[in-house]
Amino acid sequence: MSLFVQKFGGTSVASISHIENVARRIIATREAGHDVVVVVSAMGHETDRLVDLSNEIGTLTPPMFREMDVLLSTGEQVSIALVAMMLTKMGCPARSFTGGQVRITTDSSHTKARIEHIDESNLRGDIEAGIVPVVAGFQGVDAAGNITTLGRGGSDTTAVALAAVLKADECQIYTDVEGVFTTDPRVVADARCLTSITFEEMLELASLGSKVLHTRAVEFASKYRVPLRVLSSFRDAPGTLITNEEDSAVEQPIISGIAFTRDEAKLTVRGVKDVPGIASKIVGPISDSNIEVDMIVQNVAADKSTDFTFTVQRSDYDQAMSILKKVAQDIDARDVTGDNKIAKLSIVGVGMRSHAGVASKMFRILSEESINIQMISTSEIKISVVIDEKYLELAARALHSAFDLAPETVKA
Ligand code: ASP
Ligand code: MG
Repeated sequence: MSLFVQKFGGTSVASISHIENVARRIIATREAGHDVVVVVSAMGHETDRLVDLSNEIGTLTPPMFREMDVLLSTGEQVSIALVAMMLTKMGCPARSFTGGQVRITTDSSHTKARIEHIDESNLRGDIEAGIVPVVAGFQGVDAAGNITTLGRGGSDTTAVALAAVLKADECQIYTDVEGVFTTDPRVVADARCLTSITFEEMLELASLGSKVLHTRAVEFASKYRVPLRVLSSFRDAPGTLITNEEDSAVEQPIISGIAFTRDEAKLTVRGVKDVPGIASKIVGPISDSNIEVDMIVQNVAADKSTDFTFTVQRSDYDQAMSILKKVAQDIDARDVTGDNKIAKLSIVGVGMRSHAGVASKMFRILSEESINIQMISTSEIKISVVIDEKYLELAARALHSAFDLAPETVKA
């Protein structure tokens, strides 16, 4: 007998008939002889609807984060009650729990709280009594009893945290896709659902824009070694198992996935003096305005002056540009140029550690397609390039087939 934490996302509980489907899955797991703790998200786009309602009031100054949490936590409270009712009606005893009722305690950072402690006694009691606990994702309470939420997408984190404290055999994240794919199937038609992937790779993919799992949930699962599985609520398929490299039974491919984002822009300060303190004078004011800087490249100075380029999210481009124009004057740089029609594409794989020549192969494939690489950055298990947005799909397809990610080339 195993214990599974099964989390169902918003699309999986979007209506009463969806909830019936979810209940059937939970009951099937129980009938196979396992214990289940359920975590649910708000129904469909309920959280967005709640955010929109608060926006209708207008800009709140100062922002009312505490009230936001009271508002946003209601979405999950609706789904736990409905799922518990459905399970009970179908003959499976169940009981709903808000975060506070479990006693999931968090810090007091409203709208982005972190879990500090989980009291497992209530849940244990129900599991032992044969009752399925149905827990509201994404919420907790702080030490003073205020309702908190964990940040958008935070139900995944609730599920992993519960699985960690209950020492569950697996944390299963049920969603509307079949699992983690080699790349976005909307762009590369023969993208394939991976059987397994390591936490490290998943973290890279999540931070590079794959939206399957909440990044913090992956960090948590990796830290507490909770085997994590992403699978579809709508299909019977094993999905993707995310585990530690050493726990993985199969030999890792060199590249596991390709991630990309169009949400990028680059800015270049030209004619910058090559003296100490310049990088901080350029990047400092950008970060001070809460704009996140991603890739940074500074060229070698040929004649005591150089160019300094970095990328930001596309939505921050205009603001970053106006800040930089001022900075350029202050540091006596020549001018500022920029491009917001770029994309970032990355190949990710733990196999890169033990295989040389991955970067050169990537660059060769891109050059064969006449795609110009504008910037490059690497980590131990990732190579990212910035290219012109219009070549993104071509690049993704070419690399997907060159690195043998398509189904027919995969060895059993
Ligand atoms: N309902 C919350 C959201 O939409 C949390 C979650 O679904 O994970 O962000
Ligand atoms: Mg989600």
